[in-house]
Amino acid sequence: MYFELNDEQKMILDMTRKFAEEEVKPKAEEVDRNHMYPADNIKQMAELGLMGMVFPEKYGGAGMDYISYSIAVEEISRHCASTGVVMSAHTSLCTAPIYYFGTEEQKQKFLPPLAKGEKIGCFGMTEANAGSDSAGTRTTAKKTGDHYIVNGTKNFITNGREADTAVVLVRTGDDKHKGLSMMIMEKGMPGFSVGKVEDKLGIRGSSTVELVFEEVKVPATNLLGQEGEGFKIGMHTLDGGRIGIASQALGIARGCLEESISFGQAREQFGQPVINFQSLQWMIADMATRIDAARHLTWCAAKLKSLGNMRFSKEAAMAKLFASETAMWAATKAIQIHGGYGYTTDYPVERYFRDAKITEIYEGTSEVQRLVIAATLTRDKK
Ligand SMILES: Cc1cc2nc3c(=O)[nH]c(=O)nc-3n(C[C@H](O)[C@H](O)[C@H](O)COP(=O)(O)OP(=O)(O)OC[C@H]3O[C@@H](n4cnc5c(N)ncnc54)[C@H](O)[C@@H]3O)c2cc1C
Repeated sequence: MYFELNDEQKMILDMTRKFAEEEVKPKAEEVDRNHMYPADNIKQMAELGLMGMVFPEKYGGAGMDYISYSIAVEEISRHCASTGVVMSAHTSLCTAPIYYFGTEEQKQKFLPPLAKGEKIGCFGMTEANAGSDSAGTRTTAKKTGDHYIVNGTKNFITNGREADTAVVLVRTGDDKHKGLSMMIMEKGMPGFSVGKVEDKLGIRGSSTVELVFEEVKVPATNLLGQEGEGFKIGMHTLDGGRIGIASQALGIARGCLEESISFGQAREQFGQPVINFQSLQWMIADMATRIDAARHLTWCAAKLKSLGNMRFSKEAAMAKLFASETAMWAATKAIQIHGGYGYTTDYPVERYFRDAKITEIYEGTSEVQRLVIAATLTRDKK
């Protein structure tokens, strides 16, 4: 498949690359070092229309396609993977399920502030005993009249500290999968609080927290889809989310490549730039090849998602699997090319190495992506 970007996609590429270089890059090291939520970046991205770019204008979005979205997440993540995941989780995991599964009333109420970036969103699926096996959810929602009473704890929730709106997977029945439902919860609901804030290896500017629900009264009108559709909505949401994480991984991998080339050209040993050594040239060539392959997979999944009527679970899983493993591999090679300097905080590849690892874990580990790909292939053959 050959991709030629259309005018709108080229405009997004130019705009987000310039923004990332001028505004995101200078703050990235401090964001990581101080575990600082990149509030300034997010505010500026909201002003540029980047916090709801794939949603229709009538809901406050910019009406763009998923290739544009992928480009934007890659460009932002090229310099700051923390900012990239704030944008991706907000867009793909919170705003998107409300857009795809919400009633018109829910869309009118929740989408405009999210799509305009005035409010931040998060997605609560994971629990202590429900990681890869999200159907192990124990957070309960018991219907009482015109509302639900929610009790439980969600773990590892990106944006959970800053989010105003949360899309949360809850148990409304006994059946492992059909007993699950999805609902929209809002900060400020009595009994809804933020628990432990994780201290992480990478993406340290994005918050990863526990969400605690104690007798939270949620209006029945906040149910997303029908009772029992929670697992289906969750899987659909993660399919879209994986395009965002693949794009984040692409940004990190590209950072590794670009920093390696410039370092290798400047660093001299044995009377010449180290980039002249064939061993390093092979690393650079392999990095560039894998990155291009990962981008093709990612844009292919993004294209299918943009068409709206195509299944893309397998393509999104392939993109996320390959792009995340490319990012981790490229980060390892980038440090090797930098020698001892790459192991210090003086060079950004040390941060890219720490940031790359999470892309192989969240929104489904690499093992889970392989399960999704294999299941799609074997199911389709029946
Ligand atoms: C920084 C960060 C941000 C996150 N953000 C969010 C968020 O916003 N919302 C949210 O809901 N969750 C979030 N998560 C949770 C994340 O999605 C889970 O950590 C991930 O899905 C893996 O679950 P687990 O950690 O419980 O690992 P486990 O499921 O316990 O897996 C442990 C190991 O077993 C392997 N494994 C498990 N099952 C299988 C299987 N069937 N076959 C083969 N191997 C298997 C896994 O691949 C892994 O190697 C986040 C996590 C982190 C660390």
